[in-house]
Amino acid sequence: MALAIPLCVFAIVNNPALAWWAAIPPVTTTLIVGAAVAVLSRVASEADIDVLTGLLNRRGFDRALMTALRVPSGANPSLAMVLFDLDDFKSTNDRLGHRAGDTMLENVAARWIDQLSPDAILARYGGDEFGLLLPNTTEAQAIEIADRMRAAITTNCSAGVTSWRHGDTASLFVGRADIGLYRAKATGRNQTTLESAQRPAVVSELRAALDSGTIDVHYQPIVDVADCGRIVGYEALVRWTSTEQPDLTPSGLITIAESSDLIDELGRAVLYRACTDAHSIQRTLGSRLTLNVNVSCLELVRETYATRALATVAAAGWPFDQLVLEITESELAADSEQAMAQLQQLRRVGIRIAIDDFGSGYSSLNRLASLPWDILKIDRPIIGDAASARPMLTAITALSAAFGLDVIVEGIETQDQARLAAELGIGNAQGFLYGRAMSLDEITSAMPAATAAPD
Ligand code: C2E
Ligand code: CA
Ligand code: CA
Repeated sequence: MALAIPLCVFAIVNNPALAWWAAIPPVTTTLIVGAAVAVLSRVASEADIDVLTGLLNRRGFDRALMTALRVPSGANPSLAMVLFDLDDFKSTNDRLGHRAGDTMLENVAARWIDQLSPDAILARYGGDEFGLLLPNTTEAQAIEIADRMRAAITTNCSAGVTSWRHGDTASLFVGRADIGLYRAKATGRNQTTLESAQRPAVVSELRAALDSGTIDVHYQPIVDVADCGRIVGYEALVRWTSTEQPDLTPSGLITIAESSDLIDELGRAVLYRACTDAHSIQRTLGSRLTLNVNVSCLELVRETYATRALATVAAAGWPFDQLVLEITESELAADSEQAMAQLQQLRRVGIRIAIDDFGSGYSSLNRLASLPWDILKIDRPIIGDAASARPMLTAITALSAAFGLDVIVEGIETQDQARLAAELGIGNAQGFLYGRAMSLDEITSAMPAATAAPD
């Protein structure tokens, strides 16, 4: 703590237990929080200052944050945080050199510092990341501020917003803003994403469902187009009915799990259940079955994902070479070396990786060539749009062949679409024409159990 801090502020931030604190009306106390962190930033020592931009550095930011958090929680109703990341910084640095990169950072800092109220704390959090602490600010106000700041600069920028929740440590608080920033980058960049501190009732309900093992999984057939639609595999799709949010879709459920830190657990529950059920489905089918399971990119960026997934599959006794993990390409941060390392580890034991929803978002040829994929799944709208279906499918199948990728076309609902897929030599297909997702019971009761089981 810098000695130059006025004594009254020093006392406030270092004696949270003082009895008089509780008696201060909330409006006054929130003002004091703002004043305390603002004073801190003005009197920060050299070690807390980023030489290039003159803003606080990460150490200074962390100290200001600790100061704000030492204020008793009742007096600190709305402290928000934003983490910013410049989208084009690396390419500017690579193309134009470090001097140009430095100038970009200086300009951004100068533009932003002009925009902020005196109690806001802006810091260069590291590299091209900036942190902003906003006392007395709600999440909605923080989103507005972040959007205004992004609009004030000439380079694209992503932002993650959160607010302080009772009981948060500094690292939980920063971690939540960081998840928001990651999602902003992973879902297209140049946007602001809120990682809310408010835990909706549906999250508690999901937590309880995971604990009691009541998450369900259904299976949709994947067929061989050339072999009269013979079933060769199934895609596992999560199913859960929430009483808090009865209209929640599977995609909505995944979004909630991702934003509440439950995605790892949900992903693991689905993977284990699917691998266990696959034995029965394969017995019923009487022929070798490939199981496809979806993986969220937020699972994949964890350092231990591959090791944990392999253990889960092994525990369920399902062969690695009969498993495909589906990953949505547009969500995968291209620069995530962590995710790439996980994919390589999974492929080494024979698990195949599919690019899901190909063609739905931004797909780059470069990534198609360089990333470790085995299968390409063509998104439903591609075959759904009759006018462009043929040229698009022709182009995508040629591309897949060139890169040695197998193809599954999704969303086949009509015989015409099935014929087109067959004509273009597409290997596998999936869609309501062949079957909707069904429970294990529905599958096993619909088909008489085969006598010669490969399992
Ligand atoms: P997805 O992986 O692209 O899954 C295919 C979705 O398209 C499924 O929706 C399926 O029911 C639907 N579908 C299949 N054929 C047709 C068709 O012919 N016509 C139409 N209109 N729809 C068809 P669902 O089950 O609602 O899942 C939506 C998304 O939720 C999935 O898209 C996937 O991204 C995600 N998801 C589902 N289960 C999981 C899971 O266990 N883990 C993760 N990470 N994501 C999951
Ligand atoms: Ca999928
Ligand atoms: Ca898909």
